[in-house]
Amino acid sequence: LLGPDGRIAATVFAEMSALAQRTGAINLGQGFPDEDGPAAVLDAAVDAIRSGTNQYPPGTGMPVLREAIARHQQHWYGIGLDPDREVLVTAGATEALAATVLAFVEPGDEVVTFEPYYDAYAALIARAGGVHRTVPLRFPDWRPNHDELRAAVTDRTRLILVNDPHNPTGAVLDEATAELLVELAERHDALLVTDEVYEHLRFEGPHRPIAARPGARSRTISISSGGKTFSTTGWKIGWLTARPELVTAVLAVKQYLTYVNGAPFQPAIATGLDLPDAAFTAAAASLARRAELLSAGLEAAGFTVARPRAGYFVVADAGPLGFDDAEELCRRLPELAGVVGIPVSAFVRREHRHEVARLVRFAFCKREDVLREASARLAALG
Ligand code: PMP
Ligand code: GLN
Repeated sequence: LLGPDGRIAATVFAEMSALAQRTGAINLGQGFPDEDGPAAVLDAAVDAIRSGTNQYPPGTGMPVLREAIARHQQHWYGIGLDPDREVLVTAGATEALAATVLAFVEPGDEVVTFEPYYDAYAALIARAGGVHRTVPLRFPDWRPNHDELRAAVTDRTRLILVNDPHNPTGAVLDEATAELLVELAERHDALLVTDEVYEHLRFEGPHRPIAARPGARSRTISISSGGKTFSTTGWKIGWLTARPELVTAVLAVKQYLTYVNGAPFQPAIATGLDLPDAAFTAAAASLARRAELLSAGLEAAGFTVARPRAGYFVVADAGPLGFDDAEELCRRLPELAGVVGIPVSAFVRREHRHEVARLVRFAFCKREDVLREASARLAALG
């Protein structure tokens, strides 16, 4: 986790946002929206602050939020949860992931993820002394090979950590793979940990959580967050849901990480989770339009694009434009085109970088005029 000079290596997101700021380039690197989410959610936070919700909340989260999380899962996925024993509020999905990995992974235990993966996974597994096993998702269809998945999961596997919908690829889990994951977890007595922060940002068809699949519930820890769904990435209100024994094990770690967080934001996210269905579907539809806008812009500029099905990001191949090294391209992109993107190599193990060498991730969770301007600028690359 340290750079060659022994200092902490900044995350690629911090590095690329700093590059955008320094150069004034359009930041399609780090995934955060450039517009606020639902007014009702923002108002609820202001009201909570004004009405004195400003001290430590309970360790497992405020009842109003835990109850809203349970209602939300019942309503959208038909999952029944006890809000007192099966829901834990965390400092973003990030803390839920960290506390889960630290709670269950002992030195030498294996953790299986797809690759590319969200960068925090590798760092957390390494911190816990775990061994990270990866199964490749290949551009442009991102479907895992089932033989490779079967080979990766063994009796040494403690956790299978699945991000669906997926960052950075924008892929969603296909039915057959989801079924196989549940089957493998059962056969090898592994826990399934699902990172579903983009659950409401699916462009076609509803999201189907792994925990809602037959036989999965008792061995699944489901993780999500309000950041993406309500465009409040800076609030860091996340949660996990699982059976009581698993929640207790994670709480044992979590209580000494942050203890608690975000008191006034908790009732505000509860307000969001109770919004009518149309608020969720309209947000997904708006994002789908922007995904298409940027994808088409990238194609017009000469990139080959894997059309995303969800989330904030699109991956594009810069090879057709004559660029073989996306890391080099991303360093120069502010000067060449006034745009910032992130090389997909930031989401794979060092030794696999060559496999994604030409791929760049661009964020489309931005205003349409910004995406049009970025597309026009990128067209100058060709
Ligand atoms: N998981 C994935 C896949 C993400 O893309 C992100 C980044 N936003 C997170 C987890 C972190 O979520 P949070 O901001 O709620 O900690
Ligand atoms: N999830 C965001 C992304 O993938 C970044 C979050 C972060 O900066 N750690 O861009």
